[in-house]
Amino acid sequence: MAANRRPIISGNWKMNLNHFEALKLVQELSYEVTRDDVDAVDISVHPPFTDLRTVQTTLDSDKIPFFLGAQHCHSEASGAFTGEVAPSMLAKLGVRFVIAGHSERREIFGESDELVNAKVRAILANDMTPILCVGETLEERQAGDAETKVEAQLKAGLARVKAEQVADMVIAYEPIWAIGTGQTASADDAQAMCAYVRSVVADKSGTDAADMVRVQYGGSVKPINAAELMSQPDIDGALVGGASLEAASFARIIQFRLHDL
Ligand code: PEP
Repeated sequence: MAANRRPIISGNWKMNLNHFEALKLVQELSYEVTRDDVDAVDISVHPPFTDLRTVQTTLDSDKIPFFLGAQHCHSEASGAFTGEVAPSMLAKLGVRFVIAGHSERREIFGESDELVNAKVRAILANDMTPILCVGETLEERQAGDAETKVEAQLKAGLARVKAEQVADMVIAYEPIWAIGTGQTASADDAQAMCAYVRSVVADKSGTDAADMVRVQYGGSVKPINAAELMSQPDIDGALVGGASLEAASFARIIQFRLHDL
């Protein structure tokens, strides 16, 4: 992790926890996380839509310094899109970070690179920060196509985004074969791909944006591997699924800097 980029650890709760359970988790997490932690690390939690209002009021009323995040949004401002949520609705709730292009959205719901790009731009237009996810399948990695895939996703996802906006974004490198499988990329492989992500950003948006953009690794991050992953020079944070559903394990990931390598 480079000294000039502030680490960001994000918990993607996916389709888990009703609003009572969400309230309990965020309060338990606030007891585990210390003032030193929040001074050192940005923390975002990404509950399902139905929990957002509850989590937002809890963060506000209990003065818990976590950022509220969302997992997804539509790219349009309003209209006949049954079941969808507009970026402005999230912004109004105090959402700061929105995940765009998670591999589950791409693979299960057929989101294209173009749609992901429209979402990235809509999130930015509503003064929120996209967490743009990119990553290859196992077949693509085995065929030696991982970099080609990630480069294409990045170039499409960042199309028509200004360099100064890219600089403030978060990009999550998430190899699909590592998500929810317990199989983490080695720290060396994760570092190599996060460095590659930064080089593609440099190519597209310039070296200032590449130096500033925060790159997370995601894919079976756990308390036991967080410190080693976070010690890599191009890894600035983690996007955490399963291990963010339990306060103690997510807190130990947030506290990566206190663990021995
Ligand atoms: C994710 O949801 O983006 C993720 C990385 O999940 P997990 O940590 O469970 O692999």
